[in-house]
Amino acid sequence: MDSIYEDVRSILENRRIRSQILQEQKNEQILKEHPQLQKIEQEIAETTEQILLNSLESKSSDDLSSELRRLNRKREDILKSCGLSSDEFEAQPYCKKCGDTGYIHIMNKDGSETDVLCECMRSLLAPVMTARSGVDKYPGYSFEKGSDAFFASDPTMLETYTKIRLLAEKERIPNAIFYGSSGKGKTFTAVSIARQYAKQGRSSFVIRLAEAQELLMEHRKMIQSFYTPADKERAVERKVAYLTEADILVLDDLGVEPRTANTEADLLNILDTRILSGKTTIITTNLDMDTLKDRYRGRVFDRIDRSFAKFHFSAGGSRA
Ligand SMILES: [Zn+2]
Repeated sequence: MDSIYEDVRSILENRRIRSQILQEQKNEQILKEHPQLQKIEQEIAETTEQILLNSLESKSSDDLSSELRRLNRKREDILKSCGLSSDEFEAQPYCKKCGDTGYIHIMNKDGSETDVLCECMRSLLAPVMTARSGVDKYPGYSFEKGSDAFFASDPTMLETYTKIRLLAEKERIPNAIFYGSSGKGKTFTAVSIARQYAKQGRSSFVIRLAEAQELLMEHRKMIQSFYTPADKERAVERKVAYLTEADILVLDDLGVEPRTANTEADLLNILDTRILSGKTTIITTNLDMDTLKDRYRGRVFDRIDRSFAKFHFSAGGSRA
């Protein structure tokens, strides 16, 4: 289990405990200030206890139940006369949306339920996810206001860019390949997507394909070597795991990497693992589809052709 999720869970747990303690102190204070309330609370507690005991011994509690109803009504009256409501005795969570659990139940259109990350959890995860994503190498590559100006001269591209931005906010980006000559905004758009996901607390990773190759080579060497410093080992392991496990992976600049004996097998493994587990991959390349087909004959091209939406970047101007 990734330690970041454990850290976040313990923060949420502390928030729950804290609000519970604060509430207990507050309740004590309220009861102290209103002795008649304290008295009735005591009576309600005793009656409830007696009803429980009776039910254990299979005795009837009809009289006690009506007594309990009477006491509860009396409690309501006292609360009203003191200007208090019963909500004031309930612990108030730090996050009211999720009650400090970090997740919210949502009902899908088909009636099934899903747990989604609550905003409070997302904001706890976001800084770590951003730091791990590698987007810091691309300052300014983000869906900030005005970022669409680059595509303004090309209405089709502008529309595509706007759609992609909205899909990224909803975390609905499909597997996609951005192709077209250099300077048309492919890497810019791909990194902006990765940054958006990280900002929303999702694991995201941007890496040039050539670097991914080096990383996997380093990983192979590490496995064969007798000794690797522990922190280095952890860093390499985590990055390698991210290639297949990150919610979104940007493989930048396909086609310029040096060809090695492992290139195609590594790439195929990453793509297949991610397709199987439903994780999103974005590939950018300066090659056109025909050249790509010639270069990656067989299974790699087949995966891209079948499972990836193809976006041709054609806008004027110059950008990465
Ligand atoms: Zn929350």
